[in-house]
Amino acid sequence: MADTEKDILRGGQFLVKETNCEDVFTPEDFSEEQTMMKEAVAEFNEREIIAHKARFEAKDYALTEEVMRKAGELGFLGVAVPEAYNGLGMGFVSTVLTCDYISSGTGSFSTAFGAHTGIGTMPITLYGTEEQKQKYVPKLATGEWFGAYCLTEPGAGSDANSGKTTATLSDDGKSYKINGQKMWISNAGFCSLMIVFARIEDDKNITGFIVEYDPKNANGITLGEEEHKLGIRASSTRQVFFNDTVVPAENMLAGRGEGFKIAMNALNVGRIKLAAACLDSQRRIVTTGVQYANERKQFKTPISDFGAIKIKLAEMTTNAYVGESATYRASKNIEDRIAMREAAGNTHQEAELKGVEEYAIECSILKVAVSEDVQSCADEGIQIFGGMGFSEETPMEAAWRDARIARIYEGTNEINRMLSVGMLVKKAMKGHVDLLGPASEVQSELMGIPSFETPDFSELFSEEKVMIKKLKKTFLMVAGGAVQKFGPQLEEHQQLLIAAADILIEIYMAESAILRTEKNAKRFGEDSQKTQIAMSKLYLYNAVDIIEKKGKESIISFAEGDEQRMMLMGLKRFTKYQNYPDIVDLRNEIAEKVKAENKYCF
Ligand SMILES: Cc1cc2nc3c(=O)[nH]c(=O)nc-3n(C[C@H](O)[C@H](O)[C@H](O)COP(=O)(O)OP(=O)(O)OC[C@H]3O[C@@H](n4cnc5c(N)ncnc54)[C@H](O)[C@@H]3O)c2cc1C
Repeated sequence: MADTEKDILRGGQFLVKETNCEDVFTPEDFSEEQTMMKEAVAEFNEREIIAHKARFEAKDYALTEEVMRKAGELGFLGVAVPEAYNGLGMGFVSTVLTCDYISSGTGSFSTAFGAHTGIGTMPITLYGTEEQKQKYVPKLATGEWFGAYCLTEPGAGSDANSGKTTATLSDDGKSYKINGQKMWISNAGFCSLMIVFARIEDDKNITGFIVEYDPKNANGITLGEEEHKLGIRASSTRQVFFNDTVVPAENMLAGRGEGFKIAMNALNVGRIKLAAACLDSQRRIVTTGVQYANERKQFKTPISDFGAIKIKLAEMTTNAYVGESATYRASKNIEDRIAMREAAGNTHQEAELKGVEEYAIECSILKVAVSEDVQSCADEGIQIFGGMGFSEETPMEAAWRDARIARIYEGTNEINRMLSVGMLVKKAMKGHVDLLGPASEVQSELMGIPSFETPDFSELFSEEKVMIKKLKKTFLMVAGGAVQKFGPQLEEHQQLLIAAADILIEIYMAESAILRTEKNAKRFGEDSQKTQIAMSKLYLYNAVDIIEKKGKESIISFAEGDEQRMMLMGLKRFTKYQNYPDIVDLRNEIAEKVKAENKYCF
């Protein structure tokens, strides 16, 4: 583990600093303890969740609560919680892998688990006072109590700081009265604690409170009916009404007006965990899809032999592999940064807060990329099943419905796309990531004469790594040009921000897969990584296509005349392969491997 600030890449720095493959963490690096955790969680998922899938689909909310309680008994709700508060005190990677392997049975449980362990518990572990932590966290870590997170209101969704819920201090200064309405609150139906955000007087920012909830002594809290939803059907989602709900003043979280910060930081953790929660679903869909495709015959041929189906199997498998690569890479960066801050004298609480905040850009990138991959994976899963895919009797239909929510909650994908670029620009302005230097180098390169040398690309990934460098230049050219043109008004040019975010996302995901595969090829031998090499190359090829398209639309939108022509020529240069990979061959390699193994096997 790198142990100095210098050695650990800062959040967003992947864009301007080269990463050695030895420095990325991969799922193949799981320790014995992590592997044991993964196996225990996967076994729990099979036994307690998948075995009862039909009951979850039939909106059996009580089952969700019962299984959550069992997860608590086994310690799974307290993986991230320090031992001092009855948790397992495991590292960030273990937290993420628990989310990953517990989430594929049904989105209903996955949402309940994520809402409780993430946004329901983390605001207290990250911002609570010692007394608050002593009082509440052990109950949450063991599943004695469940947590919910009340931020969204009918008029305040993406604009989360605009909520109308109020908190009014009593005359004696000992308590607050909360009044207002929250909606879309996961776990509302069975929680005992709510993290509630409310505004005090005319404060600019909202304030967070820990609110206990006991239906027998409701303290002015009433719940709406369960929402009838497209997916995650057994996840309890209700409105919550507060009518003069009295909360002791000491239950304020952090300080007055600190709520928006708490909300945003809790969401950073939520976002990477949500990405993880979409991984095992993809593995499961690939496995179910390939098993069906190997069995199902049309025209006297297993449909898995058809090229049209092989495209799907290859792309689905590749996206799952890439998602894993990027999620675990970022998780370990966070874990290392927390350790580094602790070593430097920060408390665990401060270290965790700052560690996750540092990688907020990566958390947004992952949330967007993996939530969209699981959706397209489920969609193609249905297509592989044909008409049967549309039937409730096969698992694809529920997988598709359950996947849909991931693009909406924890900040919509539109908001996360814009955030990722916005945060990067802010970091550059603060000098935390030097984008300006590399961006002006790219500008000089654009005006210079391109090299006509023919490099030797015989070594594994040598051309791909040059391509990644060029894609980073594309981002710097596009984002740098846009910042120069619009300055602080850039945030009003959303189409440009979205295009820049797509470029950023593709770079991070593609690079993560290449680094993982390169590391594994070096230690396990290239032959053992044949399919992984194909997946890394296939993903990069697709990424280049996306980046070319997004780069072009951006440049045309903000540059004119000679500048536009120069940038478009640069884009062409930065997205050009010397040796184009044979995509059909790559897809065949990947599809044949999963066909032969009859499952996702990486
Ligand atoms: C099943 C479910 C569970 C949930 N659980 C919880 C929970 O436990 N706790 C909680 O507090 N909330 C929860 N939510 C709420 C969720 O976080 C919000 O739905 C989400 O943040 C979006 O807010 P909204 O629905 O008001 O949509 P809106 O904010 O109205 O957005 C509608 C559309 O407009 C876009 N948009 C909005 N603002 C902008 C902008 N500035 N620029 C560009 N595009 C924009 C959005 O991306 C989206 O496409 C849950 C929601 C659901 C459906």
